[in-house]
Amino acid sequence: MEVKRAETAGFCMGVVLALQKLDGLLAVEKGKGRIFTLGPIIHNPQVMEEYARKGVAIAESAGEIPAGATAVIRAHGVPKEVQEDLVWRGVAVVDATCPKVKKAQLLIHQQAQAGRVLLLFGEESHPEVRGLLSYAEAGAFLFDTKEKLGAVPIVPEKRYCLAAQTTQDRGVFDAIVQELSRRADCDLTVLQTICDATRQRQEEAVRIARDMEFMVVVGGYNSGNTRRLVQVVAAQRTPVLHVETAGELPLPEIGRYARVGLTAGASTPNKAIDEVHQLLATL
Ligand code: SF4
Repeated sequence: MEVKRAETAGFCMGVVLALQKLDGLLAVEKGKGRIFTLGPIIHNPQVMEEYARKGVAIAESAGEIPAGATAVIRAHGVPKEVQEDLVWRGVAVVDATCPKVKKAQLLIHQQAQAGRVLLLFGEESHPEVRGLLSYAEAGAFLFDTKEKLGAVPIVPEKRYCLAAQTTQDRGVFDAIVQELSRRADCDLTVLQTICDATRQRQEEAVRIARDMEFMVVVGGYNSGNTRRLVQVVAAQRTPVLHVETAGELPLPEIGRYARVGLTAGASTPNKAIDEVHQLLATL
C-alpha cells in the first residue's frame, strides 16, 4: 500500500506555543503550585491524559480555580470578563491564547470602539467564538452557515464588521463577503481572521484526497478543525475515516485500498500520526 502523509499534518503554531507555556510552567512549579487549564488546553484526549498524570487539572469554569493557583488560558482564548475575574480573585494567569486568536480579539475590539456591530461566522458552542464575542462591545450577530446570514437583521443605520472564527472554511467566508458586498445598504469592514494553518491543512488534504482512494484523518473527535478536515475530504467524494488513535483503524477494510492518504488536525500530536502511519505502512 502507498501511504501519502500530509506535510501539514499535526500541531499548528498556536498549539505548540500553548503547550510550550504549559511545559515551562510545569518545569518551574515542579508540583509545588496548583495548575489548572480553563477547559482542555487542546482538543485531544490523549494529550490531556498525559497532562493529567503530571498534575494539571482541567477547570470547567473559572469559578473552580482557587486564589493562589495558576490558570493557563488555552489557545482558543477566553471571554475577557473571565480573564479579568481570575486576576481580580488572585489567580495567576498564564495567557496561552494563540497570537492569531489574540489578533482577532484585538481587531474586533478596535472595530467595536469605532461603533461597528460584529457579524461573526462561527460556531456558537466553540470557546474561541465565546471569547471573540466578548470583544464586540457594540453588539454582535453570530451565524454558522451562509444561509443563516439571511436571518440577520442588517439595517442601513448601523455599520458592521465581518469576521470569522479562525478555523472556518475560507471558501464559505469568501462567498459571505461577496453576498454582503452586493448589498448597498450594508456599510461593512471585512476582518481577515481565518488562520492560514487551517487553510493550508485543508488545501493539502484536498490535493491528497484527489489522488488517493481512501483517506484517514487523525485527531480528537472534539476537535473542530479535525472534523472540518474530514468534511473537506468527504466533499471530494473520497471515502474518509476519522480516528483518534491507531487502535481504531479497521485494517481489513483499509487493506482493500492500494493508495491511502493521511492527514491530521492542528491539535493532533506527531506520536498519534506516526502510530497510524506505521500501522498503515504494514498493510
Ligand atoms: S489553528 Fe491557527 S488560530 Fe488556531 S490555534 Fe492554530 S495557529 Fe492559532
